[in-house]
Amino acid sequence: MLYFYSDEMIESERKIITASAAENLDTINERVVHRFIPMLVAENITRIIEYESGRLIPRVDLWNCVGMRMDRAFMAQQNRYKSRKAFSSSLLVNKYKILEELGIPSKGRDVIRDDDDSTKTWLEQKIEQLLSTGAIYIDSVGVNICDTCGYMQSVDNIRVNSCTICESDSFHSEKRNVLMVDIPKDRESLIKDRIIYPKNTKHIRSLFYQLPPRMMISKIREYGLPLDSIGLEGYVLDPKIGVALMPQLVAEKYELSELTLTQGAAVATNAIPYTSILTSGFHHNYLLLPKIPITSLEEAKNIGLGFMVRYLPLALMTYSSDITPDQLEVIRKEYARINWKIDIIISSLQSEKEQSLRLRQEDHQMLAEIIKDFTNYRIRAGQVKIEKFFKAQGKRYAEEMRHKGYYLSPTDIDTLENIIKLFYK
Ligand SMILES: [Zn+2]
Repeated sequence: MLYFYSDEMIESERKIITASAAENLDTINERVVHRFIPMLVAENITRIIEYESGRLIPRVDLWNCVGMRMDRAFMAQQNRYKSRKAFSSSLLVNKYKILEELGIPSKGRDVIRDDDDSTKTWLEQKIEQLLSTGAIYIDSVGVNICDTCGYMQSVDNIRVNSCTICESDSFHSEKRNVLMVDIPKDRESLIKDRIIYPKNTKHIRSLFYQLPPRMMISKIREYGLPLDSIGLEGYVLDPKIGVALMPQLVAEKYELSELTLTQGAAVATNAIPYTSILTSGFHHNYLLLPKIPITSLEEAKNIGLGFMVRYLPLALMTYSSDITPDQLEVIRKEYARINWKIDIIISSLQSEKEQSLRLRQEDHQMLAEIIKDFTNYRIRAGQVKIEKFFKAQGKRYAEEMRHKGYYLSPTDIDTLENIIKLFYK
């Protein structure tokens, strides 16, 4: 890691944006670019903040490597890997190959995974601490046990249809000592001042009101964080609690006052409630993104990486629900139109000749406003200003200059091109 904060940085500036820990599922055999959208949003906003502030910001990638779906995938091809962790590592290697192909360098990124020894040690201490403060507690609770395979499915006041392991539908209830967390009655408190996008949070809030009053957070699984140290031999921590605690680990490691997390809106209740209940000392907020249609790496390359990697992830924040293929096409056409205008303006301002002018004060001001809109997540407002700049303000200036035989100075051409790279290239 080569990123450091400068000494003069004030406390309030210690904030980064990163994607919530995503499930480390197989990406090589799947159509995958859509799954990287939260990472791409975090990367794009980080680049814009870096441009605005002139300082480097850490890239932190969180990965959820323990969980039922990954366990199953491992079981299916166990003989090819030395261990469950080696399997997880190979999936990650594939992911970073794809990210490289999308133009995201893997070098210099801090990869934090929930099956790493250092993360496990931190989580173990955190769980002991949460237990000592009573934020989580061990209770004797009636649980649903599968009659066929003995899997502990859920607490017995939750109706179960079939066993996650063997799909049997026959259960009996038993009392077991398990780890529990209470979810506060005031569900608003879990998301208040935390959702930056979407603006309308009605749907998200309704998801939070469907949560049960308390959740069992110990599981019987082959892989995961063992809970032996708190006297629950044979149990592991529910992976979603590890995911929910990882923002605190990042906040401590980078001494952050604020962490903005990007993730899919559909999975808002997976970790956010528990991050709100179980972490402290930093502010965490969210960009909850709509889904795009399933897209393979090859499809993304055909559509154009400038569009898929730079433009689309941020443009999603002007939509209020999942994007249909037709909408994707509309966004792509918008992109092509403005991109074409920009290329014409920049090339008409460019020349090898001596006679060159600088950008006017009003142009610099407009560019600064555009950057500020994006760093404050006012995506639509920023887009409108970019269009205005290149279709009206800049276009008129370009025509005026050409009329007098002037061109834009190479430094200012660089400025324009660097800004365009943030949003379009
Ligand atoms: Zn079963």
